Amino acid sequence: MAGPTVTFLGGVREIGGNKLLIEDGPDRVLFDFGPSFSARREEYYVDYLQPRSTSPAKDLLEFGLVPRLGGLYSRDALGDADLAWEPPTVQGIFVSHAHADHAGYLDLVDPEIPVYVGAGTRTLMSAIETSTMMRYGEHPYRTFTDRTPVRFGRIEVVPYPVDHSIPFAYGFIVRTSNGSLVYTGDFRQHGPRASDTREFFRAAAEERPATLVTEGTRAGPDARPNLSEAGVRSHVDRLLADRPELALACTYPRDIDRLLTLHAAALEADRSLVVSARTAHLLTTVAPQFPGGGVPVPGPGRGLLVYDRKKKRHFNWEKPFLDDALSAEEVRAHGRRYLLALDLLHFPELIDLRPPHGAPFIHSMSEPFSEDDVDDRVMHNWLDHFGLSFHQMHASGHASERELFEIVRSVAPTTVFPIHTEHPEAFRAAGPSVRLPELGRPYPIGR
Ligand SMILES: [Zn+2]
Repeated sequence: MAGPTVTFLGGVREIGGNKLLIEDGPDRVLFDFGPSFSARREEYYVDYLQPRSTSPAKDLLEFGLVPRLGGLYSRDALGDADLAWEPPTVQGIFVSHAHADHAGYLDLVDPEIPVYVGAGTRTLMSAIETSTMMRYGEHPYRTFTDRTPVRFGRIEVVPYPVDHSIPFAYGFIVRTSNGSLVYTGDFRQHGPRASDTREFFRAAAEERPATLVTEGTRAGPDARPNLSEAGVRSHVDRLLADRPELALACTYPRDIDRLLTLHAAALEADRSLVVSARTAHLLTTVAPQFPGGGVPVPGPGRGLLVYDRKKKRHFNWEKPFLDDALSAEEVRAHGRRYLLALDLLHFPELIDLRPPHGAPFIHSMSEPFSEDDVDDRVMHNWLDHFGLSFHQMHASGHASERELFEIVRSVAPTTVFPIHTEHPEAFRAAGPSVRLPELGRPYPIGR
């Protein structure tokens, strides 16, 4: 009888889009299911041109953008695709964290297949569904408990919390009939939950796994500075000290750690952090779930306020935040009181905000990956027009190459597969156990 295998159905030589199928005899479990950030999808689908809502799986299968796996997709998603619907052949899908490149294709999945997530991730996903166009579909959701095994016949999955740029992120130890596989998900060890990451890799090393599947986002050429979350805080503190005018910041909408950093820095500088209604909704929803508390919710005296963006119509979920929301006129009149988080999408507000020439704009996101980045060019056009001073202050959600290689050595598996990277070959420098995975090919798990 064939032994356990792992097959990479995505995330190979691309950032994001991990899809690991682990099979052991009759048992099959999938890990993560989202689109990658690679340019390949954009060869066929861009902003205005998207798969049809009547057959999204069919339209993605056409170009090999999702795996050709029977017993995975829903009837609705397949439409009349040449891959016929069949009853589920996968016992569950584990989602490592709520970023789109790991969870964004769940809407294509058969509604009978259970989706396993951390309790916090479930909360984040429902906040995202309420306040955006994102849809994950109907599924039986099973929330797992930290470090508590979940069993599927011969396969046992143990979820471990890790530090990443979204809270409630997990790595997994997967035990099979012929040894263990460690799957890292996305991780870093320079954020507020760095000790979780270290504990995960300690447990991973003790497991003496046959296989390590690691993310490698920052492997290979990477000239960007290696700032920690605490480093971002001290940079922002220094910038805001004694500034007399409005300060602006731009960050990822779900990077709660960064919002907490900006909030703390705003308080230190005797300011309030001003966020969108969407961010306020997210923070309010996750606050009760957050380990150790400490997530601020909007309200007087809490240093967190909501910006009243000009809109013709407000959604119901926005309404609770609007009564006390700040107008552009208030922010313009008393700029010194505020650190305003403003997404690129909402830059037209600058026309009313009219920040004084030289006011600081904190870009608390990744630097552009290419020199012809359209968003980056447009952002700088706006900043130049309003004479804002640009400050790059960001900590990555991912471990550095040096840290990745140290982890490979300390876990010491028989075989290492780098995924979620455009430079898997860079891992060759980490040791002889490294193997570059090929898409769709089953690799045996075993020492
Ligand atoms: Zn990712």
